[in-house]
Formats: sequence, structure tokens, C-alpha cells
Amino acid sequence: RAIVRELGRIKEQHAIPPQETDPTDFKRRFLKKIRKLGEGNFGLVELCLYDPKGDQTGELVAVKSLKTENECSNLRKEISTIRNLYHENIVKYKGICNDEGGANIKLIMEYLPSGSLKEYLPRNKSNIDQKRLLHYALQICQGMEYLGSQNYIHRDLAARNILVENESLVKIGDFGLTKSIKDDKEYYKVTEEQDSPVYWYAPECLINRKFYKASDVWSFGVTLYEIMTYCDRENSPPRVFLKMIGRSQGQMTMARLVEALEKGWRMPRPDSCPEMVYTQMHSCWSHAPENRVDFKGLIKEFEFLLT
Ligand code: ADP
Ligand code: MG
Repeated sequence: RAIVRELGRIKEQHAIPPQETDPTDFKRRFLKKIRKLGEGNFGLVELCLYDPKGDQTGELVAVKSLKTENECSNLRKEISTIRNLYHENIVKYKGICNDEGGANIKLIMEYLPSGSLKEYLPRNKSNIDQKRLLHYALQICQGMEYLGSQNYIHRDLAARNILVENESLVKIGDFGLTKSIKDDKEYYKVTEEQDSPVYWYAPECLINRKFYKASDVWSFGVTLYEIMTYCDRENSPPRVFLKMIGRSQGQMTMARLVEALEKGWRMPRPDSCPEMVYTQMHSCWSHAPENRVDFKGLIKEFEFLLT
């Protein structure tokens, strides 16, 4: 009888709970495309209505998939990064859509109606004063400080990857190039060759293909430059650099860019950008990574500038 009782207990322990639906598991058949939100080098982001009841009461979500199927493992990496991040200034992960046996995985995230700073700033220039711009800069630094504390390097910090929740809140998005640094390593050495956003990259990224947390700081400096120009196309970092080094083909451009940076050339102060803010850009653009300010330091500076 004791054995029977014991068996009963074991059964109880292993009882399967009533089927609960996993809120992070999105079914493809309920995902209705509304329109394209944007695309970058690898990804395509679409606005969808997730409407399991089929009565238009569902929620709006942003759905990221890959333009070419063979990049699937990159999106998987992005998903495994973003699902572990919880911060006000980092875009929220909602789940995945993985119906078709994993070949065509999609990342489901919260939808930010105003898009990226690159679309938002030029359009809303007249309503956004410099104080607001500095608030955006501060929030990006706070998100980046958190990311670093979780031992991640973003590697693609740029205005096109900062999403706007509303006029007073921005979030870091696009974790497609984010790498986790192992505890014993301070940097990540890039091995894959790809079409990289070179004008946002620090010298060590261009020369040695090494990425440190301090390399994100450099890219933040370029992002700050974009923000202070309201993402003006005429003054975009690629344009400004190309004006300086001259147009040329492929590898030549890289070589000239590196040469210019090594000689100490930096983007000039944008019109109407206060000296104090331009000083911050320069502290992000020290040639040696160890001489750059860090995100903690930047947070202090922006808090000071905002008081
Ligand atoms: P990629 O890896 O291809 O660069 P991103 O994640 O940067 O893809 O997304 C590309 C563009 O799509 C962004 O620049 C932005 O305009 C838009 N976008 C991305 N995520 C969202 C979102 N959650 N809400 C609204 N727009 C988004
Ligand atoms: Mg992007």
C-alpha cells in the first residue's frame, strides 16, 4: 500500500498543468500585415495586427524578419539578446513567431508609432528644442549603460536605430549586431565580413576589427552629432566624411577614412550646436578607446547640462 501511495505522489508531482498559452508564442495565421515600417541592411520591419480573435481587437506589433533567409542565425542571436533586456530605454521584446519549423523565424516587438530618430527629428524639428535633444542623448546613454552592465556591445548605435515612443521618450532598438562579451574578454573581434556602418565606427573597429564598450561610445558621439543636426540629410555623417575624404571606390574609402581619423580629423561642430555639447562629442572621439569618456561619465555630463 505504501508503494501505491508513493506512486500516487509521484504521479501528482508529474501531473501536466492545464494547457496554458505561451504569450510569447505568436501564431503566423493571426499576424496581419498592415504596412512596412522600415528596413536596414539585413532586416525588414513590418507593422502587424496580432488578432487571434479575428475581430480586429488585437494589438499592434512590430515584426522583424530577415530579407534573406540565410541570415536566420543572426536573427536568432538578436532574439536571444533582446529577450533578456529590461530597460525603459530599450525596445521591448514581445515574442517570436516560429510556426514554420524554425526556417522563417520572426521577432515580435512593441510598436513605436513615431519610428526612428532619423525619420522623427527632421519631421518634428519645429517642435523639438535643444533641451529635448539633450534628453534623448541622456536616455540613449542610460540604455547603453544598462546594456554594458549586462556585458553587451551594441555595435550599431546610430540615429536610425533609436526608436521614438513619444516626444519625451526614446529607446534603443536593432540588436542585430549586438555581441555578448565573455567575461574574460573586454572586446569582441569581428570575424564576419559585412556591409558595416563604417562612418559610425571607431578607429579600432576599422583597423583591427575590435569592438570594445568604448567603441559604442565613439558611435554614440556620431549619433549625438546626428541628433544635434536633427538628422539633416545634407549633414549626415557619411556625407560629411565623404566631403572631406573625397569619393572613391570600396577599400580606398576605408583607407582614406582611417587615415583621416588617425590624423585627428573629426566632424565639425554642427551649426547651432552648443560648444559644451560639441565637447562631449570630442570626448567620445578620442583616438585611443581608453581615453574616451564612458556612458556613466556622459550621463553625468548630460544631467549637468540639463539642470
Ligand atoms: P535592421 O537590422 O535591418 O537595420 P531595424 O531593427 O533597425 O532593422 O529596423 C529598421 C527600421 O524599421 C528602423 O530604422 C525603424 O524605422 C523601423 N522600426 C524598427 N523597429 C520598429 C518598432 N519597434 N516600431 C516602429 N518602427 C520600427
Ligand atoms: Mg537598423
